[in-house]
Amino acid sequence: MMIDGNSPIPTVRDAKRLIVKIGSSLLVDSHSHKIRRDWLNAMADDVAACKARGQEVVIVTSGAVAVGREHLGLHGRRLRLEEKQAAAATGQIQLAHAYQETLARHKITVAQVLLTLGDTEMRRRHLNGRATIDTLLRLGAVPVINENDTVGTSELRFGDNDRLAARVAQMISADTLVLLSDIDGLYTADPRKDPDATLIPEVRALTPEIEAVAGEPGAGYGTGGMVTKIAAARIAMAAGCRMVIAKGKRLHALSALDETAAAGGAPCTWFLPSAEPLTARKRWIAGHLNLSGTLTVDDGALSALGRGKSLLPAGVVAVDGDFSRGDPIAVLDRQGREVARGLSAYASGDARRIAGRRTAEIETILGYRGRDEMIHRDDLVLA
Ligand code: GLU
Repeated sequence: MMIDGNSPIPTVRDAKRLIVKIGSSLLVDSHSHKIRRDWLNAMADDVAACKARGQEVVIVTSGAVAVGREHLGLHGRRLRLEEKQAAAATGQIQLAHAYQETLARHKITVAQVLLTLGDTEMRRRHLNGRATIDTLLRLGAVPVINENDTVGTSELRFGDNDRLAARVAQMISADTLVLLSDIDGLYTADPRKDPDATLIPEVRALTPEIEAVAGEPGAGYGTGGMVTKIAAARIAMAAGCRMVIAKGKRLHALSALDETAAAGGAPCTWFLPSAEPLTARKRWIAGHLNLSGTLTVDDGALSALGRGKSLLPAGVVAVDGDFSRGDPIAVLDRQGREVARGLSAYASGDARRIAGRRTAEIETILGYRGRDEMIHRDDLVLA
């Protein structure tokens, strides 16, 4: 999807692959600490409407700790890390159940995905996660994602679902990320302190001025803070994904985003990237400094690559280097010139065994059914 000057009012409606991040304060009642069923049902109705339009929807949800602490009788005080993790372990089941129940009303299948920071940072785990979420979307399910809070240690966790949602957006090349929380957008100053603060409707670059209005870590206004939201915007924009921050407390907060936009001015802030997701992703691939190996290809494969096709094992004449699945490698022509680079779908040992062979033979040779391509075109960028 192109974001350009011809579409002055961005809408959620025109997203193809949409991520909706739901903050704890929306989902969990602050007095009863129970899931707000009416709110969640309305959200599920909105999600169902998106799916009926043919949009792919991923939910990143918070609330495991908030729900679980009540259940374990841990309310009214600050929790130690292990208590939070215990609360998350209990609350997550209830969250998953609530999403499953509400989306089942629309005959939509829910899939729980729990991620750690390492799953998004390490390329192979990142690719695995992406393949799983892609598959779920292809099968029509709605992945409901949260951080795997029970195993994350303090140095190795996101801690906030704003950045987690942005990393997921990057991981699966989503085009739109909606952050619903109790903040309706980015203001020129802290609106609680400065009566002249005005909402910034659109951000096209994260300038030092924008960073400055977000405030200091920990001092950002509102639950979750603006700081993590700006950090999320940075990740999303770099991945070519647009992001919107909006207040989500009301019922049907997702569909309301479009309605109010159409009426001319939603209370929200859109962060608009300059590039499309694929371009940004391919830039990431192209920008690798260390390549772990090379594949030399024949002329047939070379011209197929030129036509935007994937690289199949049949066209590979030599494999050099020691690399793992998902590692960045170079594609060379017979003269040794780099013609492309991409992420290998196979480790070097397996790549050697299937080089020059037909895709249909892969399973027999390797004993498992891997990808049809040596490098999928989504993971490939021409030199
Ligand atoms: N993963 C946490 C939870 O589900 C929430 C993190 C956040 O609030 O952003 O409770």
